[in-house]
Amino acid sequence: MESVLVLAHTEVDGSLAKPALEALAAASALGAPVTVGLAGAATQAAADQIATCGAVRLLAVTGDAFSAPRYSTDAAAAEALCRAAGCSLIIAAGTSRWARALPGVACRLGGRVDTHTTAIAAEGGVPAITRWFYRQRMEATLTRTQRPWIVLLDPGCVAAWSGAAGKAAVEAVAVEVPATRTTVSGYRAPQSDEQTIRPDAKLLFVAGAGWTKKQADGAIHTAEAEQLIVGFLRRAQASLGSSKSLVDQSGEGQAVLTCLSHMNQVGQTGSPPRHAKGLSTCCHGEEPHVVGCRFINERRAINLDAGCGWARGKADVLYVADAFEVMRHLVAML
Ligand SMILES: Cc1cc2nc3c(=O)[nH]c(=O)nc-3n(C[C@H](O)[C@H](O)[C@H](O)COP(=O)(O)OP(=O)(O)OC[C@H]3O[C@@H](n4cnc5c(N)ncnc54)[C@H](O)[C@@H]3O)c2cc1C
Repeated sequence: MESVLVLAHTEVDGSLAKPALEALAAASALGAPVTVGLAGAATQAAADQIATCGAVRLLAVTGDAFSAPRYSTDAAAAEALCRAAGCSLIIAAGTSRWARALPGVACRLGGRVDTHTTAIAAEGGVPAITRWFYRQRMEATLTRTQRPWIVLLDPGCVAAWSGAAGKAAVEAVAVEVPATRTTVSGYRAPQSDEQTIRPDAKLLFVAGAGWTKKQADGAIHTAEAEQLIVGFLRRAQASLGSSKSLVDQSGEGQAVLTCLSHMNQVGQTGSPPRHAKGLSTCCHGEEPHVVGCRFINERRAINLDAGCGWARGKADVLYVADAFEVMRHLVAML
């Protein structure tokens, strides 16, 4: 099996986040010699965090210029680490930061890159990756002959590496900081008053457009809908997903749930989250929406309509019921 480099950038607090530890676990499982390349404002704490991972070398590009996500500096750091390591297979977490910088690095190195990989394994000493195509409708396992081969592993696909911290010896890699045109001035979160997207939650709660539609009494109950949804999320520590119809309503001037933004949309044109369980409410279960629930292991839905899309084999259990009533009971029980 060929040598493997794991590329990881540090977080604001100097640590390695879970996606980086997942990439490390995936690389370690290949049974090949692993080198780790770190980039960040300070890298010793991150190196110490994974001191017992069994890496044959720990390389680091360190400096203030490499603290914030920015193509030019991230690409320069990654390129230097790849050249110093000289490994033919490079694995990195599919964070927004690496997803932006590493395809360019593959080009500079004359190699190839694959993004949105969900698994990597060595079959007969040959690394093979798994990824989905056409919005999670087709799964392929593929290999490449070109090297270096950069593989971006989607977060949440493998168990993160865990082990004791220690004192790591780090080899510094020098990089000439490239001229930058981009200044990072800070972070801006999507407009919703509290964090509702929790990738690590056991349950994904999905809200559909029905929450803002006229109910049996002929009235709309958006305020109560919001109260029930947020109350449930807080108590169950669930993540919030939504149908496209519901998140689009703000642009159409209709009643909206302020706890939602387009970031919450799941489906063909939204995200395909991975949670152990999913509960869809007031949502019809149309195919483009359900595509986003593909990786949810156990799917349940609440809909007034016994003939809705969920009833046609898309949910494991469909409760034909008023979601307002069910959620009122559920929140009271919690
Ligand atoms: C190219 C393309 C891409 C698309 N991509 C996506 C995507 O990524 N994600 C996505 O979500 N959609 C997507 N759509 C839209 C999708 O086809 C559906 O239109 C949308 O998902 C429907 O949303 P909904 O079920 O929330 O709303 P509706 O279809 O309006 O359904 C509302 C449901 O709420 C139920 N209801 C109402 N009141 C209650 C109550 N009190 N209790 C229980 N149930 C109640 C009703 O019975 C109804 O079934 C896409 C469409 C196209 C054409």
